[in-house]
Amino acid sequence: MTRATRAVINLSALRHNLSIARRHAPGSHIMAIIKANGYGHGSVAVAQALAQADAFGVACLDEAITLREAGISQPIVLLEGVVHADDLNLVRGYQLELVIHHPHQISLLEQAKGKAIPIWLKLDTGMHRLGIKPTQVSEMLQCLNQLEAVAQPVRLMTHLANADDRQDDTTSQQVARFDAVTSEVNLQTSIANSAGILAWPATHRDWIRPGIMLYGVSPFVDSLAAEHDLQSVMTLQSELIAVNQHQQDDPIGYGGSYRCPVDMPVGVVAIGYGDGYPRHAPTGTPVLVNGKRLPLIGRVSMDMLCVDLRECPSAGVGDPVVLWGAALPVEEIARRAGTIGYELLCQVTQRVSFEYLHGNP
Ligand SMILES: *Cc1c(COP(=O)(O)O)cnc(C)c1O
Repeated sequence: MTRATRAVINLSALRHNLSIARRHAPGSHIMAIIKANGYGHGSVAVAQALAQADAFGVACLDEAITLREAGISQPIVLLEGVVHADDLNLVRGYQLELVIHHPHQISLLEQAKGKAIPIWLKLDTGMHRLGIKPTQVSEMLQCLNQLEAVAQPVRLMTHLANADDRQDDTTSQQVARFDAVTSEVNLQTSIANSAGILAWPATHRDWIRPGIMLYGVSPFVDSLAAEHDLQSVMTLQSELIAVNQHQQDDPIGYGGSYRCPVDMPVGVVAIGYGDGYPRHAPTGTPVLVNGKRLPLIGRVSMDMLCVDLRECPSAGVGDPVVLWGAALPVEEIARRAGTIGYELLCQVTQRVSFEYLHGNP
């Protein structure tokens, strides 16, 4: 039998989560964000399951090309735009849409010949990562209006920096800055990421851009997915490959950072940071063995981690172990490891085999 370490991807949960995004913003089109290989779930399988999405958003050209070569036909938006002039040939060849966030990219378009490209002009309303200054909007729009390489009409977007904190007024300020320069021009707009969709109705415009919520993870620091009626999509699972009886004071694993407080059974699970399980998950991080929550003990190693089996003394070799999934939120593991669910999902490595459930609605 092959290694039991698997990521099981529930595509019906993914479709359910898309319907939740739609329920929150029924008047908006949906650009489903599937960058970073669909947040680690497999971008092609995710795109195929999300046939109801109106468009897909990816970070870069390679991600978009992977989708086109797999036969995905919806509009695909390059959220980072392009850097080099010859990238525009690929953008045309693969029929992609482009985010323009810097005057440099306009000069690339000025030199470009050929079929017009659909454009999203991105404004920096306070995140200070990508985007043109709000004061440049009318000048940039005039510029874009004159370019043969630009399909009209252009659309306008911005990205929220703090929407995951429902108490922070940065979001309202960003919306006000966006509206101040865009409400007069009659163009389609887009503001909301998952946190915007779930908590900030004022950000629901012509297009919403859900990412993490589609994968069944809460974007907020202080809530879990289930509170938003979102269903977990990925279950990361493995099995016990050894159960050993140790004695009081025996050190467990590298560095011996954990010592058995009493004589006790210790289970060894076939998963480690080489599979994407976070090495920083400390002793006490929950793991499900036969569905029962037990504490991880000692350091996570590359291929294995250890669990305290005192509460489940009947556990044996081959018993199933869940590292995160519907019954153990990835948000909880992320918090223990000092990171966010987004990072854990993206980090699952090639060694893990992926299994897809409920592909056809
Ligand atoms: C990643 C991304 C999103 C999705 O963000 P989530 O927090 O995952 O919903 C939306 N818009 C842009 C521009 C992004 O880069």
